[in-house]
Amino acid sequence: MTPETLHRPTPHALARVAFVLVEPCHPGNVGAAARAMRVMGLGDLVLVAPSVPSALADPQALAFASGATEILANARVLPSLEAAIADASLVIGVSADPREFGPPPLAPEAVAQRVFAELAADPGHRVALVFGTERVGLSVEQVQRCQLLCSIPGDPDFHSLNLAQAVQIIAYVLRRCAQDPSNAHAIDAQAKASELAASPSPRFASQVAIEGLFEHLERALVVIGFLDPAHPKKLMPRLRRLFSRARLEAEEVDLLRGVCKMAEQAGRANPPAWTRQAAEPADRSVPTTRRTTGSEST
Ligand code: SAH
Repeated sequence: MTPETLHRPTPHALARVAFVLVEPCHPGNVGAAARAMRVMGLGDLVLVAPSVPSALADPQALAFASGATEILANARVLPSLEAAIADASLVIGVSADPREFGPPPLAPEAVAQRVFAELAADPGHRVALVFGTERVGLSVEQVQRCQLLCSIPGDPDFHSLNLAQAVQIIAYVLRRCAQDPSNAHAIDAQAKASELAASPSPRFASQVAIEGLFEHLERALVVIGFLDPAHPKKLMPRLRRLFSRARLEAEEVDLLRGVCKMAEQAGRANPPAWTRQAAEPADRSVPTTRRTTGSEST
């Protein structure tokens, strides 16, 4: 009689989850991460600017992958985090500690539920989990690109795991969550619904669309005189955090870009007094407090 096993086929939805390693230094960690992912049925590995450019073919990576060579062979190497998360609707930073203006940390189990809610909401949704470089982890700016933050709780005085071990824990929790009957049911129902829909389009905006909005918003805020580019303070990081909490839909991004466009037009037609004066450095008649109105409160 064949002994009973707990291993089960991998839920299809996990194919829409990417593991992004930002600037990994040690090819051995890349190989060990590939192995960790392979055991949990995850296949989409992305390296952002690895220290060793040929990390995927490095002998140490191959040794630590211990047979999970397919993951390394199919992995993508990209020059920037922006490129790595461009098609994701939900970006989750994975960090031992929170960062300034970043989202508050959630435990892996709570994050896994959010991942499956995202995947079930629309077949076009994709999730990226972003891991930091070995020595310093994710930067403040990198975490600000994330809508959620995941921390693996540990001892308050010693909670930084090895990169591949962190990948292993997150991958395991995701797999267990995907096998939960209610998640499996939600994702099956969504797959059926999308078969019926003529042209499914993702509900939440991609990161490309969101970055385009932030750039446009920044330009518009400068033109209307709310943001002083010489003293931007923390206005944009604060707005990023606000919009990350809101989880913008694709149509809402279009709407906000329309608002930015009109604001830019209005600002150009009637430039605020202090920006006109700022172009003439000799004239000091404008009170300095007026110059920083927008960013003063940040
Ligand atoms: N000193 C760095 C540690 C980097 S370890 C820091 O404070 O972040 C490399 C990566 O492993 C981290 O960027 C993170 O993605 C992951 N990692 C390590 N320990 C973790 C933990 N306790 N919770 C979540 N991620 C962790």
